[in-house]
Amino acid sequence: MWGTPSLTDLQHQSLLPYLSQTEESRSLSLPPALAKRYLAGRFYARKLASEILQQDWQNITPAAQCAVCGGDHGAISIRGSDLNVSVAYSGDHAVAFAAHGRKVGIDIESGHPSEERQVGILHSTTSITLQGWCDYEAVVKADGRGILIDFSDVEISERDGEKYGQVRGSAEIYAFIPLEAPAGVVVSAVIETLPG
Ligand SMILES: [Zn+2]
Repeated sequence: MWGTPSLTDLQHQSLLPYLSQTEESRSLSLPPALAKRYLAGRFYARKLASEILQQDWQNITPAAQCAVCGGDHGAISIRGSDLNVSVAYSGDHAVAFAAHGRKVGIDIESGHPSEERQVGILHSTTSITLQGWCDYEAVVKADGRGILIDFSDVEISERDGEKYGQVRGSAEIYAFIPLEAPAGVVVSAVIETLPG
């Protein structure tokens, strides 16, 4: 589900009464611009889950527990269901992506897939494509540890025309799901594959 990283006043006001306590504390801990974006993400997580679960969005409670600070952000699960949701933002776009019972991760970046970007790996930097960066982010977001995982520890492979990602030392294998993106946006989305 695609949207923009800032909600309309109407959307914002409609969301406020339904925020969980942890969402409220997370949004209060952020600078205003980031808080807006965070709330937009939680709004889309609710809307998407509401469509999938066929429930009013007001009854949907997304929750996450950051691997670093324990705060309510990062990989989202929907309370009372097996639905997992990932949200991402870049420029004028926001996106939410979900699956039942499997970890999911999505990342978007503004630009062209083959555009180069410098990233730090251990004590040096290397140049990778924007698509490569999105692929990395989608996998580490699904994993839950996010950018605590070094870029060089994510292995991307192709098998039978399908693309997969795996964090070195982890059992989970993630399959990349091709998604349409708005013009000027690079997207990567992954779903955990089931063993066997
Ligand atoms: Zn955190």
